[in-house]
Amino acid sequence: MEIVALMKQTPDTAQLSQRMDGLKLMAKGGPRIVNPWDEYALEAGIRLVEEHGGVCTILSMGKPETMEALKTGLAMGGKKTKAVFLGDPKFENSDSLCTARILAKAIQKVGDVSIVLAGKSAIDGDTANTAVQVAALLGMPYLGYVVEIKEVNVEEKTITVVRALEKGRETVTTTLPAVLSVLKELGEPRYASFMGIRKAAKAKIPRWGAKTLGLSPNEIGANGSLVAWPDVSLPPVKDANLEIIEGEPDEVAKVLADKLLAEKVI
Ligand SMILES: Cc1cc2nc3c(=O)[nH]c(=O)nc-3n(C[C@H](O)[C@H](O)[C@H](O)COP(=O)(O)OP(=O)(O)OC[C@H]3O[C@@H](n4cnc5c(N)ncnc54)[C@H](O)[C@@H]3O)c2cc1C
Repeated sequence: MEIVALMKQTPDTAQLSQRMDGLKLMAKGGPRIVNPWDEYALEAGIRLVEEHGGVCTILSMGKPETMEALKTGLAMGGKKTKAVFLGDPKFENSDSLCTARILAKAIQKVGDVSIVLAGKSAIDGDTANTAVQVAALLGMPYLGYVVEIKEVNVEEKTITVVRALEKGRETVTTTLPAVLSVLKELGEPRYASFMGIRKAAKAKIPRWGAKTLGLSPNEIGANGSLVAWPDVSLPPVKDANLEIIEGEPDEVAKVLADKLLAEKVI
């Protein structure tokens, strides 16, 4: 069974938590990691290959340093994985729709794909649009927030999954091929083995650019994008007053409750 795992390289989460202007951080460089949600998508892909055979192809669109993310993925999946780097200066400044267009073309080029797996969202752009748009462009059903893959019926070409909703769980069956975005409950990503890391370091990863994918300049980059980001900035810093209430716990609780009531917080 042919599986595709979509993987984005993002700035390091720890850095993002200190500096929310992720786009500026991306432009300037800094430590980069595999989007944490995509590790769960890849783990799901490797497990499907272990159960049903075939191969899981990791696709990542980005700058040349994205190769490192692909090598991390290959080190995790070993022989069960292949990787393709979707890199071209013409892809720069693509919005999520353009990104999805590039990924969709690459998925078609991989050929006969049964399941496309993506993370819930990317920790930097965080639109959670890309996987939905890939599904729409490929005319495939989309199942979001998947926490369990209950059954894949290869003969009947169907998949049954459990989706996490705000107020419960939903079991859904759909036809294959399909696009899934996954949550953590699906299963902890495995650690790469030492041998896996060594082999991945030497792997020759093919690069597919706009020409290879048959994409014209008006379909990609700023020309093909419907959404522009003219500016990205930190939220304004709010003034805050700090007051420490001292005393015995009972007294402190009473004073605090009175203050919260006076401020209409409770
Ligand atoms: C320099 C720069 C300029 C940008 N300018 C714009 C702009 O002008 N307008 C605009 O709308 N956006 C812009 N972006 C953001 C960019 O378009 C998004 O990062 C991209 O569209 C993906 O959206 P997202 O990050 O919200 O991913 P999400 O939709 O949140 O990601 C969901 C899932 O889709 C998959 N996925 C997402 N991206 C990739 C990828 N590249 N490769 C493989 N899988 C992927 C992953 O599995 C991920 O978990 C810019 C980004 C950069 C770095």
